[in-house]
Amino acid sequence: AIHGLKKSYNLGDMEVPILHGIDLNVKKGEFIAIMGPSGSGKSTLMNMIGCLDRPTSGSVRLMGKDTSTISDNELAELRGFEIGFVFQNFNLISRLSAYENVLFPTYSNSKNSMNIPQRAKDLLGLIGLDDRLHHKPTELSGGQRQRVAIARSLINDPSLILADEPTGNLDSKASEDIMNIFSDLHKKGRTIIMITHDPEMEKYVDRVVLIKDGRIDNN
Ligand code: ATP
Ligand code: MG
Repeated sequence: AIHGLKKSYNLGDMEVPILHGIDLNVKKGEFIAIMGPSGSGKSTLMNMIGCLDRPTSGSVRLMGKDTSTISDNELAELRGFEIGFVFQNFNLISRLSAYENVLFPTYSNSKNSMNIPQRAKDLLGLIGLDDRLHHKPTELSGGQRQRVAIARSLINDPSLILADEPTGNLDSKASEDIMNIFSDLHKKGRTIIMITHDPEMEKYVDRVVLIKDGRIDNN
């Protein structure tokens, strides 16, 4: 749940307000799309939800924790174990293979109850890339890269997936593949918050949240 969330950026000696008080309640297991014009604050909001940055005021509660009051350690733990990130430009590490990219989030820490190498292979199988384990990102298509990024986001078994324009760099066929993967994850009970510019994506989600000038604009 997000309550009265405000965010300003400091530019030199200027405070530039971006989010002007966002209230948003996302239920466990919900799949929502955040839409709105470029520059309206969608990615900024996503960064607050993903614990990549802290709000200027207001609160974000994740899994019963208020992210503005918990310690840096707890915040890092939430970010590492409870949240999976997928970005528009995939953000894969170019010198690592698909398999190593999926493993990457576990290099620093992992839920040690899991058999990580097996899980990485299973996830790559799940997204249909079992035969591309040792390919580098440059040897994969855009859609395949994004599928690797989705597998990577799932390696620590997060309950929440945040995706910032995951299909923004993909053609319509690859976009559909990615959205089918998200749909399956949604059916399995994961909570997904996705930023998108594509009205076509509305059919996959439970609810669309419109952001305009740093405010929610659902009329
Ligand atoms: P797009 O659809 O183009 O991705 P967006 O809705 O995701 O847009 P944001 O990236 O959240 O928009 O940016 C909102 C505003 O905040 C923009 O005016 C941007 O210039 C500003 N902004 C974003 N990040 C920073 C930052 N780190 N420092 C200063 N200003 C920032
Ligand atoms: Mg953005």
